[in-house]
Amino acid sequence: MFELKVLDSFDAAHRIEGYPGKCARLHGHTWSIEVFVVGEKLDELGMVIDFKTVRNSLREVLDEFDHQYLNELPMFRDKNPTAENIAMEIFDRMSQKIPIDRVSVWESPKSCVTYSRK
Ligand SMILES: [Zn+2]
Repeated sequence: MFELKVLDSFDAAHRIEGYPGKCARLHGHTWSIEVFVVGEKLDELGMVIDFKTVRNSLREVLDEFDHQYLNELPMFRDKNPTAENIAMEIFDRMSQKIPIDRVSVWESPKSCVTYSRK
């Protein structure tokens, strides 16, 4: 089994509505994203999938979030832009094109959420 991982990041602001603490106030993060693709079979080039394909797809999705106030984006109108919901949005968008396995969202160097459909 092979596991590929692609990393990227974006900067944005958010607030967690209803949170009983300072995260309810407007603040920002640099979110670091890891996207994993797993596979057993290699193509004729010896790859599970071209890193570039995964990287470009991730960048395309992250460009929607980058330097935005996430709470104002249509996808977060009805739910808080938590690391959990960000991970699910990235997973849903990317998996329309690429058979990704899971997405990890690091909200800080010490706090990470991983989403998959397993
Ligand atoms: Zn936050």
